[in-house]
Amino acid sequence: MADPRPQLLRRLQEQEVWDLLVIGGGATGLGTAFDAACRGLRVLLLEGKDFAKGTSSRATKLVHGGVRYLAQGNVHLVREALRERGRLEHNAPHLVNRLGFLLPLYQIWSGPFYGSGLRLYDLLAGSLSLGRTERIGPGRALELAPTLRRQGLRGAVRYFDGRFDDARLAVTLLRSLFDEGGLALNYFPVRELVKLGGRVSGVVAQDSETGQRHEIRARVVVNATGVFADAVRQLDRPDVSPLLSPSQGIHLVVDKEFWPSEDALMIPRTDDGRVMFAVPWHGRVLLGTTDTPVQQLSEEPAALPEEVELILKTASGYLEAAPQRRDVRSVFAGLRPLVKRGGEQSSGRISRDHLLFSSESGLITITGGKWTTYRHMAEQTVDLALKVGGLRYRTSPTADLRLHGAESSPGASVYGSDQAEVDQLGESPLLPGQPLREGQVRYAARQELARTVEDVLARRSRLLLLDAQASVAAAPQVARLLAEELGRDALWEEEQVSSFTALAQNYLIDPS
Ligand SMILES: Cc1cc2nc3c(=O)[nH]c(=O)nc-3n(C[C@H](O)[C@H](O)[C@H](O)COP(=O)(O)OP(=O)(O)OC[C@H]3O[C@@H](n4cnc5c(N)ncnc54)[C@H](O)[C@@H]3O)c2cc1C
Repeated sequence: MADPRPQLLRRLQEQEVWDLLVIGGGATGLGTAFDAACRGLRVLLLEGKDFAKGTSSRATKLVHGGVRYLAQGNVHLVREALRERGRLEHNAPHLVNRLGFLLPLYQIWSGPFYGSGLRLYDLLAGSLSLGRTERIGPGRALELAPTLRRQGLRGAVRYFDGRFDDARLAVTLLRSLFDEGGLALNYFPVRELVKLGGRVSGVVAQDSETGQRHEIRARVVVNATGVFADAVRQLDRPDVSPLLSPSQGIHLVVDKEFWPSEDALMIPRTDDGRVMFAVPWHGRVLLGTTDTPVQQLSEEPAALPEEVELILKTASGYLEAAPQRRDVRSVFAGLRPLVKRGGEQSSGRISRDHLLFSSESGLITITGGKWTTYRHMAEQTVDLALKVGGLRYRTSPTADLRLHGAESSPGASVYGSDQAEVDQLGESPLLPGQPLREGQVRYAARQELARTVEDVLARRSRLLLLDAQASVAAAPQVARLLAEELGRDALWEEEQVSSFTALAQNYLIDPS
């Protein structure tokens, strides 16, 4: 099978001036590019690494209004997110589903306190509510979650929110962008901004696979680079002061036996005053997250020992048989692009709202926010881009636009209506006992712009996050299939396996 990239590069050369060029292929950039393409703009998105390589593949997997923001009194943010939750459930039903959450009650006061807060959460969702919040007794709570700590259990509040697969949603947005005539390239970092008469008129970007630099012209350039937004702003004006105060959050992934429930667990207050979740996800359970301010930005942030300890210790307070270090199948860390607000110290209190503005030179920056609100952020960004670029105004159609492959049938896979096409490319599992199949690898290379073993194992499939050791075992076969698809030689295969194996050490709690 032919490598799809040369054809994409030809499309890049053919277009003289793009209406909109988006830097960054996470939730925000992909959502913005898709929204613009739906409005008939000629759109190019450039991602420096892989789509969703950054924060957008490292979320807690919740499509939510954010119960804790309600506790902080941020009703506006919660209401907006709940509206977007409803839309996302409609537009990508194969990737978003309703999930029960149990908030266990161990103190007398906690029932009325949390019960009323969560009923307000329900009310704010209005007609988009996913189900009624209810107070349940200890017997019912243990029926739903048999490993919940029994001693002192007075019952639980059960409410409903959404769960999703973040990287698959990013890939779905990528496909939707292509469906609307847009173009996106990964492994294509933007190195410089080009200016004409003081206005940004394009970028210089580099194809990481060939090393070739390209000067690309565009009417409007959007900086959607998440925690790296300040670095791109500095390409515009080297003297600008940073806007972001990144904070790290980690997750531990353990076997389902520790939380054999269809519902998630919501722990309303950890020792450091945070909310923590146990979320059933693709047959395993995700425990997290933390909130640790960081000074140094990295594409591969690493969990700190104290973050791991905090999660294990918190879980042990709520589970009959709590997981130990040796039970952790994978650990992954992500960086929140939190927007600084003057004088605030703790990152738990820094705004989760997004920030959108254009600079004197016309560079638009969009950062902050949440996965859940990506569509709303994208719509606002394109509205601003139309103004900045003097482009004809068209309203956004994305509020009720179904995304690529959208399929509502119960049990639809993350590929939605594309599943049959994936199956046709090979149904045999790559490893006994693991769900990853040959067809997924071939499909990832042909249709989803996967370029490396990591792209397949971390984001087109989620094996690295679900079981780091198993992903290392699958790497040689993935490399072989990718080499066949992309026309690469044995040396490339070898290099791919060794670089993936090195990267996977970061996902093992006690690397060998
Ligand atoms: C631990 C954690 C848990 C979270 N949980 C949830 C949750 O459950 N629900 C929810 O709604 N939200 C959640 N969030 C928030 C959500 O994940 C983020 O708001 C969202 O993913 C940010 O997306 P982004 O596109 O702005 O940034 P990113 O995903 O980081 O994307 C930015 C991209 O820009 C690229 N880039 C950088 N520089 C350049 C350049 N020069 N040229 C080209 N490309 C470049 C990067 O490679 C990167 O891919 C969570 C965040 C964290 C950290």
